Amino acid sequence: MATKRDYYEVLGVAKGASQDDIKKAYRKLAKESHPDLHPNDKAAEDRFKELNEANEVLSDAEKRARYDQFGMDGPQMGGSGFGGYGFDPSQMGGFESIFDQLFGGGGMGGMGGARSRNAPQQGNDLRFSMRISFEEAAKGAKKTFDFTRNENCDICHGSGAKPGTQPETCPTCNGSGQVRAGGGFMVTVRPCSNCQGTGKIVKEPCTSCTGTGQKKHKRTANVTIPAGIDNGQVIVLGGQGEPGRNGGPNGDLQVVINVSPHKLFKRDGINLYMEMPISFTQAALGAELEIPTLDGEVPHKIPEGTQTDTSFRIKGKGLPRLRSNVKGDLVVTVRVEVPKRLNDKQKELLREFEELSTGKDSERQKSFKDKVKEIFQ
Ligand SMILES: [Zn+2]
Ligand SMILES: [Zn+2]
Repeated sequence: MATKRDYYEVLGVAKGASQDDIKKAYRKLAKESHPDLHPNDKAAEDRFKELNEANEVLSDAEKRARYDQFGMDGPQMGGSGFGGYGFDPSQMGGFESIFDQLFGGGGMGGMGGARSRNAPQQGNDLRFSMRISFEEAAKGAKKTFDFTRNENCDICHGSGAKPGTQPETCPTCNGSGQVRAGGGFMVTVRPCSNCQGTGKIVKEPCTSCTGTGQKKHKRTANVTIPAGIDNGQVIVLGGQGEPGRNGGPNGDLQVVINVSPHKLFKRDGINLYMEMPISFTQAALGAELEIPTLDGEVPHKIPEGTQTDTSFRIKGKGLPRLRSNVKGDLVVTVRVEVPKRLNDKQKELLREFEELSTGKDSERQKSFKDKVKEIFQ
């Protein structure tokens, strides 16, 4: 496979370019390199394909985020996991529709760019929102879910025509789905109104699908959730969306991941954060703490005189980075608790402790008292 150019480079925009900039750059370049303007020019066609692929990814916030994160290959998490970017550059069925967007329907004189529904079109993408537990996001999981999608009717195989009959070629446009008007440089091309641009006329509709050519089907999908996935990330099951039309490719099934919050841990990227209450005697005397992690408890020693809000890091007890062996850390912040509801014995011991402490102010207390003195002298 030939090396692909960076998508940002293809569009000639900076990495942080706004959607508006990307749109403008794409429109400008697409007009210049549109194959209709360069007939029989293979290089121009390749440039146009490259351009559309770059635009397809960068103009879609999710695809762009994935591209920024994983680069050209897209995350390939085995089997039907991530399926790259869901764009097949060999499918050039999008030409007319792109042309249509660029030049505004069939109204442009001289350019000849009306869209034909006769051309292969990619099927619709489907979205499925999946809630997973925090642990599943951390360790990865295999999930199965049911969904409904339109599929080509099994009776008429998508033609919409009653079995035994065939859709007839539209006599108005001779099956092209387009009609031309005018002559010379001012040829206007419009979708054929007789067949709504399909090029075909169904005389006797299939009763099973009432002539639509499609029916809803319940399907089950398997999805492999990679360890380290984060809230809002999307797993694309390529080709499992709705069927393409006129031989176009199927759409994709996009699984949007929702990760349930954890009772103890907060996540930021690959690191986990946790607050842990400790007693003031543990803080003063030092202690061996049992720190809960996603892999069970691990011991950690805190030194004598640990102050409240002190944080420490347990290496490698965070979350894995997608597609790597790198693991984040668990950052624990201790909150020292002042005891409430002391019994008499405890109070007595603390008073004794206070007497022993008199005259032994900490540095912070000393500095505070000095400042108070300065103010009120
Ligand atoms: Zn049918
Ligand atoms: Zn027609």
